[in-house]
Amino acid sequence: MSASASLSLRHEKRSIDSGLLEDVRAGRLEGLDAREILTWAIKNLHPRLALSCSFGNAEGLVLLDMMHRIEPTSRVYVLDTGRLHQPTYDLIDRVRDRYGKNVEVVFPEAAAVQAMVREHGMNLFYESLEKRQLCCRLRKVEPNRRYLADLDGHVTGLRREQGVTRSDVRKVELEGDGRLIKINPLAEWSQDDVWAYVRDHSVPVNRLHAEGFPSVGCAPCTRAVPAGEDPRSGRWWWENPDTRECGLHVGEEKDGSGI
Ligand code: SF4
Repeated sequence: MSASASLSLRHEKRSIDSGLLEDVRAGRLEGLDAREILTWAIKNLHPRLALSCSFGNAEGLVLLDMMHRIEPTSRVYVLDTGRLHQPTYDLIDRVRDRYGKNVEVVFPEAAAVQAMVREHGMNLFYESLEKRQLCCRLRKVEPNRRYLADLDGHVTGLRREQGVTRSDVRKVELEGDGRLIKINPLAEWSQDDVWAYVRDHSVPVNRLHAEGFPSVGCAPCTRAVPAGEDPRSGRWWWENPDTRECGLHVGEEKDGSGI
């Protein structure tokens, strides 16, 4: 991508139309299906709207495909923590080729990561919950916050069926101080719905799913899960199950962590 094209990806943050905010607060969009929600979001928020895609879950790729069919210039970003699996990087390039999309790759602040690694080592996340949370905060939460500061809305692949912490996810909701609209078009989808869409539309997905990875995050912190076991046992398996969130989807972020 040229430097001028890259610069053009930054869009001035504007205040969101009060009528839109009222529609969200009143829950008027909850009866729409995924395609209708995305059409509403793109019509009202594009280009200050982007899909948050890890390239490690089928949900994100389904949404990318749906958004691309509605608006070929719809935006997608990925947080490159610097520790992703090679198949994830391969998939990002496959998506660039297949859809002709400039995937917006967001990096952590180099100085912050350098200081963390100098003080705690390369693999600090295995040593304590606090160090794992520090790594997630610097490599994921802070870059995500910085990127979202320029947007009015972002799209996620959250589904209610993914666990108790997500069981009350709304299709469209307000985040933080109410200046960012979070759109969860797949909130009521089942896992079977997601994979049926992948098959029906030949959506490219991470090849590690076929090797037993239910979701694919950072290489040191994700592993394959035997059939029938809890999918969450593939993430931060050395920790207490109650702590296994990276902070990206935790509403209240205390001290920039939210974990
Ligand atoms: S998932 Fe692991 S490697 Fe990735 S940011 Fe969190 S602690 Fe660091």
